[in-house]
Amino acid sequence: MHARQQDHFPAMEPQPQVHDAATLRSAAQVLDACKNVREMAQEVSAAVKRNEIWRGQQCLNLLAPEAPTSPTVRSLLSAEIGTRAAEGHIGPVNRWFAGTRHIDEVESLCMELLKRALRAEYADHRLCASMIGNLAVYTALTQPGDTVMTAPQPFGGHSSNRADGPAGVRGLNIVDIPFTPELEIDLDAFRRAAQQHQPKLVTLGMSMTLFPLPAKEISEIIAPWGGKLFFDGAHQLGLIAGGQFQDPLREGAAVLTGSAGKTWSGPQSGIMAWNDPAITERLAWAVFPVLAATHQVNRVAALAVSAAEMIEFGQVYMAQIVSNSQALARALEQRGIPVIGASRGYSQTHQVIADVRQFGGGLEVAHQLARANLITNKNLIPGDAASDWDRPSGLRIGSIEVTRLGMRETQMDEIAEFFARVLLRKEPVEKVQQDVVDYRRQYQTLYYCFENGLPPAA
Ligand SMILES: *Cc1c(COP(=O)(O)O)cnc(C)c1O
Repeated sequence: MHARQQDHFPAMEPQPQVHDAATLRSAAQVLDACKNVREMAQEVSAAVKRNEIWRGQQCLNLLAPEAPTSPTVRSLLSAEIGTRAAEGHIGPVNRWFAGTRHIDEVESLCMELLKRALRAEYADHRLCASMIGNLAVYTALTQPGDTVMTAPQPFGGHSSNRADGPAGVRGLNIVDIPFTPELEIDLDAFRRAAQQHQPKLVTLGMSMTLFPLPAKEISEIIAPWGGKLFFDGAHQLGLIAGGQFQDPLREGAAVLTGSAGKTWSGPQSGIMAWNDPAITERLAWAVFPVLAATHQVNRVAALAVSAAEMIEFGQVYMAQIVSNSQALARALEQRGIPVIGASRGYSQTHQVIADVRQFGGGLEVAHQLARANLITNKNLIPGDAASDWDRPSGLRIGSIEVTRLGMRETQMDEIAEFFARVLLRKEPVEKVQQDVVDYRRQYQTLYYCFENGLPPAA
Protein backbone atom coordinates (compact mmCIF):
# COMPACT_ATOMS: atom_id res chain seq x y z
CA MET A 1 0.00 0.00 0.00
CA HIS A 2 1.24 3.49 -0.82
CA ALA A 3 2.26 5.64 2.11
CA ARG A 4 -0.19 8.33 1.13
CA GLN A 5 -3.10 5.94 1.16
CA GLN A 6 -2.05 4.53 4.45
CA ASP A 7 -2.70 7.98 5.90
CA HIS A 8 -6.25 7.73 4.66
CA PHE A 9 -6.86 4.08 5.48
CA PRO A 10 -4.87 3.07 8.52
CA ALA A 11 -4.68 -0.73 8.70
CA MET A 12 -6.95 -1.85 11.49
CA GLU A 13 -5.84 -4.23 14.19
CA PRO A 14 -7.64 -7.54 13.87
CA GLN A 15 -10.36 -7.75 16.53
CA PRO A 16 -12.04 -10.87 17.89
CA GLN A 17 -14.83 -11.81 15.49
CA VAL A 18 -17.84 -14.03 15.25
CA HIS A 19 -17.38 -13.94 11.48
CA ASP A 20 -14.79 -16.15 9.87
CA ALA A 21 -11.48 -14.38 10.43
CA ALA A 22 -9.78 -15.80 7.31
CA THR A 23 -12.58 -14.57 5.04
CA LEU A 24 -12.42 -11.09 6.52
CA ARG A 25 -8.64 -11.07 6.23
CA SER A 26 -8.79 -11.89 2.55
CA ALA A 27 -11.30 -9.05 2.00
CA ALA A 28 -8.87 -6.70 3.75
CA GLN A 29 -6.10 -7.94 1.44
CA VAL A 30 -8.27 -7.33 -1.62
CA LEU A 31 -8.85 -3.73 -0.48
CA ASP A 32 -5.16 -3.28 0.31
CA ALA A 33 -4.28 -4.35 -3.22
CA CYS A 34 -6.61 -1.77 -4.80
CA LYS A 35 -4.95 1.30 -6.29
CA ASN A 36 -7.78 3.60 -5.23
CA VAL A 37 -11.22 3.64 -3.63
CA ARG A 38 -13.01 3.38 -6.95
CA GLU A 39 -11.33 0.00 -7.42
CA MET A 40 -12.56 -1.01 -3.99
CA ALA A 41 -16.12 -0.27 -5.05
CA GLN A 42 -15.53 -2.21 -8.28
CA GLU A 43 -14.46 -5.23 -6.24
CA VAL A 44 -17.94 -5.26 -4.70
CA SER A 45 -19.66 -5.24 -8.09
CA ALA A 46 -17.28 -7.93 -9.34
CA ALA A 47 -18.22 -10.24 -6.46
CA VAL A 48 -21.91 -9.64 -7.19
CA LYS A 49 -21.29 -10.52 -10.84
CA ARG A 50 -19.41 -13.71 -9.90
CA ASN A 51 -22.39 -14.80 -7.82
CA GLU A 52 -24.80 -13.97 -10.62
CA ILE A 53 -22.90 -16.17 -13.04
CA TRP A 54 -22.27 -19.04 -10.66
CA ARG A 55 -25.45 -19.25 -8.58
CA GLY A 56 -27.65 -17.50 -11.15
CA GLN A 57 -26.64 -19.47 -14.23
CA GLN A 58 -24.53 -22.50 -13.38
CA CYS A 59 -25.97 -24.03 -10.21
CA LEU A 60 -29.00 -26.08 -9.38
CA ASN A 61 -30.18 -23.99 -6.44
CA LEU A 62 -32.10 -26.29 -4.15
CA LEU A 63 -32.14 -24.14 -1.03
CA ALA A 64 -35.61 -24.33 0.51
CA PRO A 65 -35.72 -20.69 1.71
CA GLU A 66 -34.75 -19.18 -1.67
CA ALA A 67 -36.77 -18.23 -4.70
CA PRO A 68 -35.85 -16.49 -7.95
CA THR A 69 -37.86 -13.33 -8.63
CA SER A 70 -39.41 -12.25 -11.93
CA PRO A 71 -37.76 -9.60 -14.15
CA THR A 72 -40.31 -6.95 -13.07
CA VAL A 73 -39.82 -7.68 -9.37
CA ARG A 74 -36.07 -7.43 -9.82
CA SER A 75 -36.18 -4.19 -11.74
CA LEU A 76 -38.53 -2.55 -9.24
CA LEU A 77 -36.01 -3.22 -6.50
CA SER A 78 -33.75 -0.59 -8.00
CA ALA A 79 -36.54 1.91 -8.76
CA GLU A 80 -36.36 5.60 -7.85
CA ILE A 81 -39.19 5.19 -5.38
CA GLY A 82 -36.81 3.24 -3.17
CA THR A 83 -34.93 6.44 -2.41
CA ARG A 84 -38.02 8.07 -0.86
CA ALA A 85 -38.80 8.17 2.83
CA ALA A 86 -42.29 7.11 3.77
CA GLU A 87 -42.86 6.11 7.33
CA GLY A 88 -46.20 5.73 9.00
CA HIS A 89 -49.55 4.47 7.81
CA ILE A 90 -51.03 4.94 4.34
CA GLY A 91 -52.78 8.27 3.69
CA PRO A 92 -51.82 11.94 3.64
CA VAL A 93 -52.60 12.69 7.30
CA ASN A 94 -50.97 9.56 8.69
CA ARG A 95 -47.50 10.27 7.33
CA TRP A 96 -44.82 12.43 8.77
CA PHE A 97 -43.61 13.48 5.32
CA ALA A 98 -45.38 15.36 2.53
CA GLY A 99 -45.08 14.31 -1.11
CA THR A 100 -46.20 10.74 -0.63
CA ARG A 101 -49.11 10.80 -3.09
CA HIS A 102 -47.71 8.12 -5.39
CA ILE A 103 -46.15 6.22 -2.55
CA ASP A 104 -49.64 5.92 -1.06
CA GLU A 105 -50.81 4.53 -4.40
CA VAL A 106 -48.06 1.91 -4.45
CA GLU A 107 -48.51 0.92 -0.83
CA SER A 108 -52.29 0.70 -0.95
CA LEU A 109 -52.12 -1.34 -4.17
CA CYS A 110 -49.66 -3.63 -2.41
CA MET A 111 -51.87 -4.06 0.63
CA GLU A 112 -54.98 -4.74 -1.43
CA LEU A 113 -53.12 -7.28 -3.59
CA LEU A 114 -51.75 -9.03 -0.49
CA LYS A 115 -55.27 -9.28 0.94
CA ARG A 116 -56.54 -10.81 -2.30
CA ALA A 117 -53.64 -13.22 -2.64
CA LEU A 118 -54.06 -14.44 0.93
CA ARG A 119 -57.86 -14.13 1.09
CA ALA A 120 -57.54 -12.02 4.26
CA GLU A 121 -59.26 -8.91 5.62
CA TYR A 122 -56.03 -7.22 6.70
CA ALA A 123 -52.39 -7.37 5.65
CA ASP A 124 -49.20 -5.48 6.35
CA HIS A 125 -46.55 -4.78 3.74
CA ARG A 126 -43.95 -2.91 5.81
CA LEU A 127 -41.97 -5.79 7.30
CA CYS A 128 -38.37 -5.87 6.19
CA ALA A 129 -38.22 -9.55 7.18
CA SER A 130 -40.53 -12.24 8.42
CA MET A 131 -38.35 -12.24 11.53
CA ILE A 132 -39.64 -8.70 12.18
CA GLY A 133 -43.19 -9.89 11.48
CA ASN A 134 -42.82 -12.45 14.24
CA LEU A 135 -41.45 -9.84 16.60
CA ALA A 136 -44.42 -7.62 15.71
CA VAL A 137 -46.84 -10.43 16.57
CA TYR A 138 -45.16 -11.07 19.92
CA THR A 139 -45.08 -7.34 20.61
CA ALA A 140 -48.77 -6.94 19.78
CA LEU A 141 -50.26 -10.05 21.32
CA THR A 142 -48.10 -10.83 24.39
CA GLN A 143 -46.56 -9.16 27.42
CA PRO A 144 -43.12 -10.00 28.84
CA GLY A 145 -43.42 -13.03 31.10
CA ASP A 146 -46.35 -14.55 29.20
CA THR A 147 -46.16 -18.22 28.26
CA VAL A 148 -46.11 -19.27 24.61
CA MET A 149 -45.76 -22.74 23.11
CA THR A 150 -43.54 -23.10 20.04
CA ALA A 151 -41.78 -25.85 18.07
CA PRO A 152 -38.24 -26.88 19.11
CA GLN A 153 -35.55 -26.61 16.43
CA PRO A 154 -34.73 -30.32 15.94
CA PHE A 155 -38.34 -30.83 14.86
CA GLY A 156 -38.20 -27.92 12.44
CA GLY A 157 -38.87 -24.94 14.74
CA HIS A 158 -37.23 -21.59 14.02
CA SER A 159 -35.15 -19.34 16.24
CA SER A 160 -37.63 -16.47 15.76
CA ASN A 161 -40.06 -18.30 18.02
CA ARG A 162 -37.50 -19.52 20.54
CA ALA A 163 -35.41 -18.14 23.39
CA ASP A 164 -32.64 -17.11 20.98
CA GLY A 165 -34.91 -14.98 18.77
CA PRO A 166 -37.77 -12.43 18.91
CA ALA A 167 -39.84 -14.55 21.33
CA GLY A 168 -36.90 -14.57 23.73
CA VAL A 169 -36.24 -10.86 23.20
CA ARG A 170 -39.86 -10.19 24.17
CA GLY A 171 -39.10 -12.00 27.45
CA LEU A 172 -41.56 -14.80 26.90
CA ASN A 173 -41.64 -18.06 28.78
CA ILE A 174 -41.27 -20.66 26.04
CA VAL A 175 -42.71 -24.17 26.38
CA ASP A 176 -42.04 -26.81 23.71
CA ILE A 177 -44.80 -28.13 21.48
CA PRO A 178 -44.38 -31.92 21.78
CA PHE A 179 -43.58 -33.82 18.58
CA THR A 180 -43.46 -37.50 17.68
CA PRO A 181 -40.23 -38.90 16.18
CA GLU A 182 -42.11 -38.91 12.83
CA LEU A 183 -42.19 -35.10 12.92
CA GLU A 184 -45.87 -34.87 13.78
CA ILE A 185 -47.30 -32.83 16.63
CA ASP A 186 -48.27 -35.20 19.45
CA LEU A 187 -51.76 -33.84 20.04
CA ASP A 188 -52.45 -35.78 23.25
CA ALA A 189 -49.21 -34.61 24.81
CA PHE A 190 -49.93 -31.12 23.48
CA ARG A 191 -53.36 -31.06 25.12
CA ARG A 192 -51.88 -32.02 28.50
CA ALA A 193 -49.05 -29.48 28.30
CA ALA A 194 -51.35 -26.73 27.03
CA GLN A 195 -53.87 -27.29 29.83
CA GLN A 196 -51.05 -27.15 32.35
CA HIS A 197 -49.34 -24.01 30.97
CA GLN A 198 -52.36 -22.24 29.43
CA PRO A 199 -50.24 -20.44 26.79
CA LYS A 200 -51.43 -17.05 25.62
CA LEU A 201 -50.14 -17.84 22.14
CA VAL A 202 -49.22 -21.05 20.35
CA THR A 203 -46.92 -20.60 17.37
CA LEU A 204 -46.84 -23.05 14.50
CA GLY A 205 -43.67 -22.03 12.70
CA MET A 206 -41.72 -24.68 10.85
CA SER A 207 -38.53 -24.23 8.86
CA MET A 208 -38.48 -27.93 8.19
CA THR A 209 -41.96 -28.51 6.85
CA LEU A 210 -43.29 -31.51 4.99
CA PHE A 211 -46.96 -31.83 5.95
CA PRO A 212 -49.88 -29.65 7.12
CA LEU A 213 -50.14 -29.01 10.86
CA PRO A 214 -53.18 -29.56 13.13
CA ALA A 215 -54.03 -25.85 13.32
CA LYS A 216 -57.74 -26.35 13.85
CA GLU A 217 -57.29 -28.89 16.65
CA ILE A 218 -54.76 -26.69 18.42
CA SER A 219 -56.86 -23.54 18.16
CA GLU A 220 -59.78 -25.46 19.70
CA ILE A 221 -57.64 -26.81 22.55
CA ILE A 222 -56.41 -23.35 23.57
CA ALA A 223 -59.70 -21.49 23.04
CA PRO A 224 -61.11 -22.09 26.59
CA TRP A 225 -58.61 -19.69 28.20
CA GLY A 226 -58.51 -17.28 25.26
CA GLY A 227 -55.25 -18.65 23.84
CA LYS A 228 -54.55 -17.56 20.26
CA LEU A 229 -52.94 -19.46 17.42
CA PHE A 230 -50.17 -17.73 15.47
CA PHE A 231 -49.22 -19.43 12.20
CA ASP A 232 -45.69 -18.49 11.15
CA GLY A 233 -45.90 -19.62 7.55
CA ALA A 234 -42.50 -18.24 6.56
CA HIS A 235 -41.85 -21.18 4.27
CA GLN A 236 -45.37 -22.10 3.22
CA LEU A 237 -46.83 -18.66 2.45
CA GLY A 238 -46.79 -19.16 -1.34
CA LEU A 239 -48.24 -22.65 -0.97
CA ILE A 240 -51.00 -21.17 1.20
CA ALA A 241 -51.74 -18.40 -1.31
CA GLY A 242 -51.73 -20.94 -4.14
CA GLY A 243 -54.21 -23.16 -2.30
CA GLN A 244 -51.76 -26.07 -2.14
CA PHE A 245 -51.35 -26.28 1.63
CA GLN A 246 -53.60 -25.78 4.62
CA ASP A 247 -55.31 -22.40 5.00
CA PRO A 248 -54.39 -21.24 8.52
CA LEU A 249 -56.64 -18.16 8.65
CA ARG A 250 -59.61 -20.43 8.00
CA GLU A 251 -58.42 -23.02 10.53
CA GLY A 252 -58.43 -20.86 13.62
CA ALA A 253 -55.16 -18.91 13.29
CA ALA A 254 -55.52 -15.34 14.56
CA VAL A 255 -52.57 -14.14 12.51
CA LEU A 256 -50.37 -15.44 9.71
CA THR A 257 -46.86 -14.24 8.95
CA GLY A 258 -44.57 -15.35 6.16
CA SER A 259 -41.44 -14.63 4.19
CA ALA A 260 -41.88 -12.98 0.82
CA GLY A 261 -38.69 -14.62 -0.46
CA LYS A 262 -39.43 -18.30 0.19
CA THR A 263 -42.29 -20.11 -1.63
CA TRP A 264 -43.98 -16.73 -2.14
CA SER A 265 -41.18 -15.98 -4.64
CA GLY A 266 -41.08 -12.20 -4.13
CA PRO A 267 -38.49 -9.77 -2.75
CA GLN A 268 -36.96 -11.02 0.50
CA SER A 269 -39.00 -9.45 3.31
CA GLY A 270 -42.04 -10.23 5.45
CA ILE A 271 -45.82 -10.33 5.14
CA MET A 272 -48.45 -10.40 7.86
CA ALA A 273 -52.18 -11.11 7.40
CA TRP A 274 -55.17 -11.53 9.70
CA ASN A 275 -58.98 -11.26 9.79
CA ASP A 276 -59.90 -10.09 13.28
CA PRO A 277 -60.58 -6.32 13.53
CA ALA A 278 -60.01 -6.52 17.29
CA ILE A 279 -56.25 -7.10 16.87
CA THR A 280 -55.76 -4.71 13.95
CA GLU A 281 -54.76 -1.69 15.97
CA ARG A 282 -52.25 -3.62 18.11
CA LEU A 283 -50.63 -5.30 15.09
CA ALA A 284 -50.41 -2.06 13.08
CA TRP A 285 -48.95 -0.29 16.14
CA ALA A 286 -46.34 -3.02 16.55
CA VAL A 287 -45.24 -2.44 12.94
CA PHE A 288 -45.34 1.35 13.15
CA PRO A 289 -44.06 3.08 15.21
CA VAL A 290 -42.54 0.16 17.12
CA LEU A 291 -40.52 -1.88 14.59
CA ALA A 292 -40.46 -0.11 11.22
CA ALA A 293 -39.93 3.49 10.18
CA THR A 294 -38.87 3.82 6.54
CA HIS A 295 -39.78 0.53 4.96
CA GLN A 296 -38.21 0.43 1.47
CA VAL A 297 -40.99 1.47 -0.91
CA ASN A 298 -39.11 -0.10 -3.85
CA ARG A 299 -39.45 -3.39 -2.02
CA VAL A 300 -43.14 -2.68 -1.39
CA ALA A 301 -43.65 -2.12 -5.14
CA ALA A 302 -41.85 -5.37 -5.92
CA LEU A 303 -43.92 -7.13 -3.27
CA ALA A 304 -47.11 -5.83 -4.86
CA VAL A 305 -46.14 -7.30 -8.23
CA SER A 306 -45.18 -10.60 -6.60
CA ALA A 307 -48.67 -10.68 -5.03
CA ALA A 308 -50.21 -10.20 -8.47
CA GLU A 309 -48.03 -13.06 -9.76
CA MET A 310 -49.28 -15.20 -6.88
CA ILE A 311 -52.90 -14.45 -7.77
CA GLU A 312 -52.36 -15.18 -11.46
CA PHE A 313 -49.91 -18.11 -11.34
CA GLY A 314 -49.83 -19.28 -7.70
CA GLN A 315 -52.09 -22.25 -8.09
CA VAL A 316 -50.24 -23.97 -10.96
CA TYR A 317 -46.80 -22.84 -9.81
CA MET A 318 -47.23 -24.10 -6.26
CA ALA A 319 -48.84 -27.37 -7.40
CA GLN A 320 -45.80 -28.04 -9.59
CA ILE A 321 -43.46 -27.20 -6.70
CA VAL A 322 -45.14 -29.82 -4.50
CA SER A 323 -45.26 -32.39 -7.27
CA ASN A 324 -41.57 -31.79 -7.97
CA SER A 325 -40.52 -32.20 -4.34
CA GLN A 326 -42.41 -35.51 -4.20
CA ALA A 327 -40.76 -36.67 -7.43
CA LEU A 328 -37.33 -35.63 -6.20
CA ALA A 329 -37.79 -37.40 -2.85
CA ARG A 330 -38.89 -40.60 -4.57
CA ALA A 331 -36.00 -40.45 -7.03
CA LEU A 332 -33.46 -39.92 -4.24
CA GLU A 333 -34.85 -42.78 -2.20
CA GLN A 334 -34.90 -45.13 -5.20
CA ARG A 335 -31.20 -44.47 -5.60
CA GLY A 336 -30.41 -45.25 -1.95
CA ILE A 337 -30.45 -41.81 -0.33
CA PRO A 338 -32.81 -42.09 2.69
CA VAL A 339 -35.60 -39.51 2.81
CA ILE A 340 -38.01 -38.65 5.61
CA GLY A 341 -41.79 -39.00 5.20
CA ALA A 342 -42.03 -41.85 2.66
CA SER A 343 -45.11 -43.36 4.37
CA ARG A 344 -47.03 -40.09 3.90
CA GLY A 345 -46.00 -39.48 0.29
CA TYR A 346 -42.74 -37.66 1.17
CA SER A 347 -43.92 -34.06 1.16
CA GLN A 348 -46.84 -31.67 0.78
CA THR A 349 -44.49 -28.71 0.47
CA HIS A 350 -41.45 -27.53 -1.48
CA GLN A 351 -39.11 -29.48 0.82
CA VAL A 352 -37.38 -32.83 0.81
CA ILE A 353 -35.54 -33.89 3.95
CA ALA A 354 -32.79 -36.47 3.51
CA ASP A 355 -30.98 -38.31 6.27
CA VAL A 356 -27.36 -38.13 5.18
CA ARG A 357 -25.69 -39.55 8.29
CA GLN A 358 -24.18 -42.44 6.29
CA PHE A 359 -22.60 -39.98 3.81
CA GLY A 360 -20.82 -37.96 6.50
CA GLY A 361 -23.62 -35.75 7.87
CA GLY A 362 -25.32 -32.57 6.70
CA LEU A 363 -22.39 -30.15 6.84
CA GLU A 364 -20.02 -32.41 4.96
CA VAL A 365 -22.60 -33.41 2.36
CA ALA A 366 -23.88 -29.86 1.72
CA HIS A 367 -20.33 -28.64 1.06
CA GLN A 368 -19.48 -31.61 -1.12
CA LEU A 369 -22.64 -31.12 -3.20
CA ALA A 370 -21.94 -27.38 -3.49
CA ARG A 371 -18.61 -28.22 -5.12
CA ALA A 372 -20.68 -29.98 -7.78
CA ASN A 373 -22.92 -26.87 -8.07
CA LEU A 374 -25.80 -28.55 -6.22
CA ILE A 375 -26.82 -26.05 -3.52
CA THR A 376 -28.64 -27.39 -0.43
CA ASN A 377 -28.32 -26.91 3.33
CA LYS A 378 -27.50 -28.96 6.39
CA ASN A 379 -30.47 -29.44 8.70
CA LEU A 380 -31.30 -30.78 12.13
CA ILE A 381 -33.57 -33.81 11.95
CA PRO A 382 -35.32 -35.82 14.69
CA GLY A 383 -32.69 -37.66 16.69
CA ASP A 384 -30.33 -34.66 16.60
CA ALA A 385 -30.00 -32.39 19.65
CA ALA A 386 -30.47 -28.63 19.23
CA SER A 387 -26.76 -28.32 20.08
CA ASP A 388 -25.92 -30.36 16.95
CA TRP A 389 -26.94 -27.38 14.78
CA ASP A 390 -23.43 -27.02 13.32
CA ARG A 391 -23.08 -30.71 12.41
CA PRO A 392 -26.58 -32.14 12.03
CA SER A 393 -27.57 -35.40 10.34
CA GLY A 394 -29.98 -34.04 7.77
CA LEU A 395 -30.02 -32.26 4.45
CA ARG A 396 -32.85 -29.96 3.37
CA ILE A 397 -33.57 -29.72 -0.34
CA GLY A 398 -36.11 -27.35 -1.91
CA SER A 399 -37.87 -27.40 -5.27
CA ILE A 400 -38.82 -23.71 -5.65
CA GLU A 401 -36.14 -22.44 -8.03
CA VAL A 402 -35.86 -25.48 -10.27
CA THR A 403 -39.66 -25.34 -10.65
CA ARG A 404 -39.65 -21.67 -11.59
CA LEU A 405 -37.00 -22.48 -14.20
CA GLY A 406 -39.60 -24.70 -15.86
CA MET A 407 -38.50 -28.11 -14.60
CA ARG A 408 -40.95 -30.91 -13.95
CA GLU A 409 -40.94 -34.47 -12.57
CA THR A 410 -38.60 -35.88 -15.26
CA GLN A 411 -35.98 -33.30 -14.40
CA MET A 412 -36.26 -34.20 -10.70
CA ASP A 413 -35.11 -37.68 -11.60
CA GLU A 414 -32.15 -36.21 -13.46
CA ILE A 415 -31.27 -34.04 -10.46
CA ALA A 416 -31.41 -37.07 -8.14
CA GLU A 417 -28.95 -38.75 -10.47
CA PHE A 418 -26.44 -35.91 -9.91
CA PHE A 419 -26.82 -36.46 -6.15
CA ALA A 420 -26.20 -40.18 -6.56
CA ARG A 421 -23.07 -39.58 -8.64
CA VAL A 422 -21.59 -37.46 -5.84
CA LEU A 423 -22.80 -39.31 -2.76
CA LEU A 424 -23.06 -42.96 -3.80
CA ARG A 425 -20.79 -43.44 -6.76
CA LYS A 426 -18.19 -40.98 -5.47
CA GLU A 427 -17.45 -39.59 -8.92
CA PRO A 428 -15.00 -36.68 -8.90
CA VAL A 429 -17.02 -33.55 -8.06
CA GLU A 430 -15.33 -31.57 -10.86
CA LYS A 431 -16.78 -33.95 -13.41
CA VAL A 432 -20.28 -33.76 -11.94
CA GLN A 433 -19.97 -29.99 -11.69
CA GLN A 434 -19.21 -29.70 -15.41
CA ASP A 435 -22.28 -31.80 -16.21
CA VAL A 436 -24.45 -29.69 -13.88
CA VAL A 437 -23.27 -26.51 -15.63
CA ASP A 438 -24.14 -28.02 -19.03
CA TYR A 439 -27.49 -29.24 -17.73
CA ARG A 440 -28.40 -25.90 -16.19
CA ARG A 441 -27.62 -24.13 -19.48
CA GLN A 442 -30.95 -25.41 -20.85
CA TYR A 443 -32.87 -23.80 -17.97
CA GLN A 444 -32.31 -20.05 -17.89
CA THR A 445 -35.85 -18.69 -18.28
CA LEU A 446 -38.08 -17.91 -15.31
CA TYR A 447 -41.75 -18.85 -15.62
CA TYR A 448 -44.94 -18.26 -13.64
CA CYS A 449 -44.61 -14.52 -14.23
CA PHE A 450 -46.30 -12.03 -16.59
CA GLU A 451 -43.22 -11.76 -18.83
CA ASN A 452 -42.92 -15.46 -19.65
CA GLY A 453 -46.15 -17.12 -18.54
CA LEU A 454 -46.23 -20.86 -17.94
CA PRO A 455 -43.39 -23.22 -18.84
CA PRO A 456 -43.70 -25.47 -21.90
CA ALA A 457 -45.68 -28.65 -21.21
CA ALA A 458 -43.67 -31.71 -20.16
C1 LIG B 1 -37.16 -18.34 7.52
C2 LIG B 1 -38.05 -18.32 8.71
C3 LIG B 1 -38.31 -17.13 9.40
C4 LIG B 1 -37.58 -15.85 9.09
O1 LIG B 1 -37.92 -15.35 7.88
P1 LIG B 1 -37.08 -14.16 7.20
O2 LIG B 1 -37.96 -13.69 6.10
O3 LIG B 1 -35.81 -14.76 6.75
O4 LIG B 1 -36.87 -13.12 8.23
C5 LIG B 1 -39.24 -17.15 10.42
N1 LIG B 1 -39.87 -18.28 10.75
C6 LIG B 1 -39.63 -19.46 10.13
C7 LIG B 1 -40.38 -20.68 10.56
C8 LIG B 1 -38.70 -19.51 9.10
O5 LIG B 1 -38.43 -20.67 8.49
